[in-house]
Amino acid sequence: MLSLRQSLRFVTPATRAFSTSRIFLQSKHTNKTAQSLAEVKDNESLIGPGAKEGSVPTDLEQATGLERLELLGKLEGVEFFDTKPLDSSRKGTMANPIVLDSYEDYRYVGCTGSPADSHTIMWLKPTVKQVARCWECGSVYKVNPVGVPHGHGHH
Ligand SMILES: [Zn+2]
Repeated sequence: MLSLRQSLRFVTPATRAFSTSRIFLQSKHTNKTAQSLAEVKDNESLIGPGAKEGSVPTDLEQATGLERLELLGKLEGVEFFDTKPLDSSRKGTMANPIVLDSYEDYRYVGCTGSPADSHTIMWLKPTVKQVARCWECGSVYKVNPVGVPHGHGHH
């Protein structure tokens, strides 16, 4: 079985996007299972609670680790595994931000500075209307809306 880190590499060969993997490694131990993205703190929080007695477990109850992260993401409309690696070759500035293509009018970004991993991951949410600036390194991220892809229709 692949370790979490290995499977992350497999999903995204480039180093930067998977700065996101660090959320599993750096946080302190909890036994609480995350029910939403905001509650995802570490690996433990991604272990599904399992089925309640006498019921068939749902995907969400059974999913653990990456799978759970992905499911939680989907519930909130976040695609973790459809993202290009962030450009960590430079810091974004207000005049020249790091531009992120997005199908939505916002993106979640895990900034770890430039070069990648130079600071603890900071989650940012730039929107079409507003750039996001990393609290740690000051890098600026901007969303570039690229329209809605096929099969991603509105409900
Ligand atoms: Zn940063």
